[in-house]
Amino acid sequence: MRRPIIAGNWKLNKTIDQALDFVVELQSLVDGTGDVEVVVAPAFTALSAVANALNNSSIGVSAQDLYWENSGAFTGEISAEMIVDSGCSYVIVGHSERRQFFGETNQSVNQKVKAALEGGLVPIVCVGEMLEDRESGKTKKVVTNQLVDGIDGLSKTDILRTIIAYEPVWAIGTGKTASPDQAQEVHSLIRSVIATSYSDQIAESVRIQYGGSVNPSNAAELLSKPDVDGALVGGASLDADSFAEIVRASHQ
Ligand code: PEP
Repeated sequence: MRRPIIAGNWKLNKTIDQALDFVVELQSLVDGTGDVEVVVAPAFTALSAVANALNNSSIGVSAQDLYWENSGAFTGEISAEMIVDSGCSYVIVGHSERRQFFGETNQSVNQKVKAALEGGLVPIVCVGEMLEDRESGKTKKVVTNQLVDGIDGLSKTDILRTIIAYEPVWAIGTGKTASPDQAQEVHSLIRSVIATSYSDQIAESVRIQYGGSVNPSNAAELLSKPDVDGALVGGASLDADSFAEIVRASHQ
């Protein structure tokens, strides 16, 4: 049985004070949802404060990106060690906005995934096709390539610690969600790619989140699909009530 994981990607939002107000509210709303793993991903500046505030809670904290080197002349970058030092346990890697706007490639994603695992973080590895890929029938090819390259060289232990997030780019921040059947089809593909590279047993244990305009009204149906093990939520994670409703939807 895979434990559902609901993660909120705050992107470039919330000052430290706003982040702290949010997590106080969220804690009161998701109290008693222990069978679901709940994670928030604030901006780098708020990581430490949020991790301190959530120290005695079941809510985990994630960074939104990392660099693969531990230290050195890499202006503006943050290492796995620094993220762990700020109190985080997770890191999002290869989000489509990083790929689209900041030149992230499958190879850099792979370097970051390895650095995250080596540093003791759980990577949430994002894959997903663009609209033109879907319309030209290339979804399977694109997602398979991103996945195979992104997890290349990971040991069995590493892949079992890794979370995959299927995020069709056309569904991110657009209000257009993949239908539950579309999501299930790609999640099942992802699981079969992992089975081919590792084993059926390992593939059955890896958690695969769906992301792309998840909100309180569509979450339950998406999460009811057999290979959908949680959600990576952008916009709807900025409001504590909406995010908590999505967490509750994963119980059903
Ligand atoms: C995301 O950024 O990971 C995301 C899924 O965003 P949204 O929920 O706003 O589509």
